[in-house]
Amino acid sequence: MKKRIIFLLSIILLVQCTKVPLTGRKQLSIIPNSELLPMSFTQYNEITKEGDVIHNSEWAGMVKNVGNRIKIAAETYMKQNGISDQLTGYNWEFKLLKGDSVVNAWCLPGGKVAFYTGIMPICKDEKGVAVVMGHEVAHAIANHGRERMSQGLVANGLVGGVAAALGENRSLTEEILLQSAGIGSQLGMLSYSRLHESEADKIGLIFMAIAGYNPNEAPAFWKRMAENKKTGTEIPEFLSTHPSTSERIKDLEKAIPEAMKYYKDEK
Ligand SMILES: [Zn+2]
Repeated sequence: MKKRIIFLLSIILLVQCTKVPLTGRKQLSIIPNSELLPMSFTQYNEITKEGDVIHNSEWAGMVKNVGNRIKIAAETYMKQNGISDQLTGYNWEFKLLKGDSVVNAWCLPGGKVAFYTGIMPICKDEKGVAVVMGHEVAHAIANHGRERMSQGLVANGLVGGVAAALGENRSLTEEILLQSAGIGSQLGMLSYSRLHESEADKIGLIFMAIAGYNPNEAPAFWKRMAENKKTGTEIPEFLSTHPSTSERIKDLEKAIPEAMKYYKDEK
């Protein structure tokens, strides 16, 4: 079984790769967005059912506004670099979900973002929301969900495309998608990789800078997150699914000068 998977993986690696915008890294993608995104949107609608979503609060408005600003920044970058076609089928949404003890935010493929109320006090204000939003939008633009979904399908021998995978084992295929975005039970198999996290951090800094938010807010946010970890009774999910923190802050500080090239102080 293992040999077969390695064989499949090497064949697939030869033929089915795409490039990550901004970093140029080659990534595995055995499924086109045209197949993946409809499934992703269905899952998003299921997770963000009415009753779990907060519509009218200052925070909910902030998540929407910042989301739109970062989205426009990302689209602007893609347009200026002649790669807008990679956003075909995206349908952005930015929702705030109930969950005061859930210190987390995530993004499903195609631009479906959710923040939980539990992460908002650590974001503290619009600038903090922009740090997390930049990171989440970067996951979407870099197709990290699709890459991880591809890896998850291959690892489970499901390589015939999304429809075939759903037909063969619907619950497993859905589970792989959710794990690809860091949602739901973390079985370890698909916990966030350091590579994706640092890539999303770097790209996120650039998007927040284009959107008019100072990239220096990012290390400040992660320091607050580390503080919360010390004082909180539970480890925030955003830390347990995302590698942490002092090294991350160092890496962010290294990436800030590049991001500052895109930042125009609006004052
Ligand atoms: Zn992440």
